[in-house]
Amino acid sequence: MKKLILLFITIAVVSCKQYPTPATIVITENKPVKQAKNIILMVGDGMGLTQISAGMYSNGNTLNLEKFPAVGLHKSYSADNLVTDSAAGATAFSCGIKTYNGAIGVNTDTLPVQTILEEAELKGLATGLVATSSIVHATPASFVAHSRYRKLHEDIAADFLKTEVDYWVGGGKAFFSNRENDERDLYKELRAKGYTVSDYFEQDFEEVNTNVKGNFAFFTANKEPLPKAQGRDYLVKAASEGVRFLDKHDEEDKGFFMMIEGSQIDWGGHANKTDYIISELLEFNEAIGKVLAFAKQDGETLVVVTADHETGGFAINPGSTMDTIVGAFTSDYHTATMIPVFAYGPGSELFNGIYENTAIYHKMRSAYGWTGLE
Ligand code: MG
Ligand code: ZN
Repeated sequence: MKKLILLFITIAVVSCKQYPTPATIVITENKPVKQAKNIILMVGDGMGLTQISAGMYSNGNTLNLEKFPAVGLHKSYSADNLVTDSAAGATAFSCGIKTYNGAIGVNTDTLPVQTILEEAELKGLATGLVATSSIVHATPASFVAHSRYRKLHEDIAADFLKTEVDYWVGGGKAFFSNRENDERDLYKELRAKGYTVSDYFEQDFEEVNTNVKGNFAFFTANKEPLPKAQGRDYLVKAASEGVRFLDKHDEEDKGFFMMIEGSQIDWGGHANKTDYIISELLEFNEAIGKVLAFAKQDGETLVVVTADHETGGFAINPGSTMDTIVGAFTSDYHTATMIPVFAYGPGSELFNGIYENTAIYHKMRSAYGWTGLE
């Protein structure tokens, strides 16, 4: 009988295949936390410690990340795999849950879970998304959409009509205005809701003037934007203007939530290309500099910079110098190493230490002073 029970338990554990998650401790020692009015979460997709090191050495031994007073590490694994993908990784930040790889804003039962961006909208804050991938790609999608599978790009695009993201810039025009699975024209629908919608085909993002009164959506590519090294050049402007847009957008002045992604650091890792990783990371670094300058001046803005996971099993091998990084890779996929987290501004002290990736969601809510789960 004992053997039978043991067998049964073994089967149950194996079939469940989820990793144990320790309970999340939100505020330690009951110390009051200075509240943030605005939160800017910056995600360098695939940006592990080696990617950061390579970027720093290549940049004259300096990065804006050195200006962050609080540094922590998060455990990036998902509900069904020690090696997460970007969908489960971003859903951990946006919803505070471990879910399966491929899941966009849904739990392990494929049920939708409210995101921090949706909660911010409900509370009257302004919200924004900026990415150097398409806007329906896993990382930005996980803040606004709910889909059982990350590749359902047209479904994900339609979710942008359900939650009012006030400002967004990224690729993916085709999933809105040239859809294959239905006849909907999401440009038309967004304009009917008061959005100014424009794209790379109509004008260069460099020349765009944003009116802070209405909502703003700009598409930088039909599907995926080019690498920085091939001429893509909008992240820094989209980040710095986006922050100012959201700051002035809301008449009630309730604050804002924004997610800015350096999407292609990950693609450099998948391609096992050191130069690709470094050029993407240095553009992201420049965007961090702009955001940090805003936060410094504002005084009420929490900036959190992290990654969803590491990509490539990237190493800086012997023979490297600061100017010439000799990169090596163990994989063309993601790895499960812990990921650094950098925080600046009110509530930044919450981000010291080692914790689950899901804790970032809870720490951001604590920094806003939000209590209870809605
Ligand atoms: Mg991504
Ligand atoms: Zn990836």
